[in-house]
Amino acid sequence: MYSKVYSAALLGINMEMVAVETDVSDGLPSFEMVGLLNSEVKEARERVRSAIKNTGYLLPPKRITVNLSPADIRKEGSSFDLPIAVSILSSLGLIYHRNVSDEKIMIAGELSLSGKILPMNGVLPMVIAAREKGIRTFIVPMENAKEGAVIKDVNIYGMTTLRDVISFLNGTEYESEPYVDFSNMYKDMENIDKEQLDFADISGQEAVKRAAKIAVAGMHHMLLIGTPGSGKSMIAKRIPGILPKPNMEECMEITKIHSIAGQLKGSNIKLNRPFRAPHHSVTDKALIGGGSNPRPGEITLAHRGVLFLDELAEFKRETIDALRQPLETGEVIINRLNGSYVFPAGIMLVAATNPCKCGYYPDRNRCSCSEIQVKNYLGKISGPILDRIDICVNTPPVMVEDIGKKSSESSEDIRKEIENVRRIQEERFKGEPYRFNSQITPSKLEEYCMLSKEAKSIIDKAYKSLGLSVRVYHKMMRVARTIADLDGEVYVEAKHIAEAIGYRTEIF
Ligand SMILES: [Zn+2]
Repeated sequence: MYSKVYSAALLGINMEMVAVETDVSDGLPSFEMVGLLNSEVKEARERVRSAIKNTGYLLPPKRITVNLSPADIRKEGSSFDLPIAVSILSSLGLIYHRNVSDEKIMIAGELSLSGKILPMNGVLPMVIAAREKGIRTFIVPMENAKEGAVIKDVNIYGMTTLRDVISFLNGTEYESEPYVDFSNMYKDMENIDKEQLDFADISGQEAVKRAAKIAVAGMHHMLLIGTPGSGKSMIAKRIPGILPKPNMEECMEITKIHSIAGQLKGSNIKLNRPFRAPHHSVTDKALIGGGSNPRPGEITLAHRGVLFLDELAEFKRETIDALRQPLETGEVIINRLNGSYVFPAGIMLVAATNPCKCGYYPDRNRCSCSEIQVKNYLGKISGPILDRIDICVNTPPVMVEDIGKKSSESSEDIRKEIENVRRIQEERFKGEPYRFNSQITPSKLEEYCMLSKEAKSIIDKAYKSLGLSVRVYHKMMRVARTIADLDGEVYVEAKHIAEAIGYRTEIF
């Protein structure tokens, strides 16, 4: 007998429908599986056989053939176990109440040998993709049911064992996971905000906070240089909270990526912007994404939020260089024999470093590094990444008199100011392929960054006396544009340029 059930294969951040067909016929007893399967899927045979046995059924001595189609899509992972088991049981006539071959039911989940259903990655993108193809009923692992339930007009059944699935398909009543109204959750976001770290908790460091505000307002990547304990990561962690609130579409996008990476951890939707801080020993693959069937890396998990690279000088140069392309285009492209995979990577980069190996330069009471050693240490930071950084700021140690003092501005105040500047940019860049001051192309700089006479003379003087490159000159113009926007000024004035010049360092 023949039967067919639907499941899905993960391709990058998208899901493709896969039909799992089974044919049982007389002949020498065998169990064959075909359809471009990787080794994990091939192993399903043993898991499925045991799970079926331990659920109380015996596979008859017949010729069983399972085919996963279309054949040109590579299938990997263990989430095909459950659809394979259901397809086999159905072709043996053991699932009889509901006709799984005719009804459009999508099934996914890994099986343990005992018949328990184990959680999987990517349920949300699977439900989104299948719903577009007219599928309304889903059987998924219990742990992932909530995740799928944020999609309207579908029935999500969370199951714990293969036995549950068999009884369900044979007519036992089950409650579908109730629909989670995502738009209502979104409205409640004010409450979630309270869990985010607040700039008001940071004593002193006003200059650094100011730099962070400018960086976020114009989407300028930034670098913090300071001694250990000066609060570099404290500041970085608060940046997602001053980025404009993500809209519903962005929340969905963030959630989808975390679903694929198996990072939802019990929660069913992401309502905050992500903050990712990979350790400096991170591999290229973990940072950028990759693998034979490519998976998103840290930069994609930080999409729409902040990627924080602490101790930038300690990262391997090749790892940092691999960031260059994604920072430029906002996406990661991975080419494989069977096609290219595109992962989104629209991030704000925040990097931090000690000023020298010991960390205390220029405090000569504590730092005995020579000038050359200091230079070499910062020189380790790769040039291509510095090219992408517009704002560099020193984070001084916290002053004794500032300890315990509350800051004047809360994250919410700062965010409101930033949202204003974002609106100015939206208006300004209508018809341009970019959205932020940090992205203004050199040919458009003069048009968008109109300098007052005095401002022009200051930047030209700085260009000559500091021996700046044209690239740094352009960066300063862009940063000054953002500072002027924060002041609500059309022209870039002398004070804006002067402040922007302060955000460069000798290592640029
Ligand atoms: Zn030192």
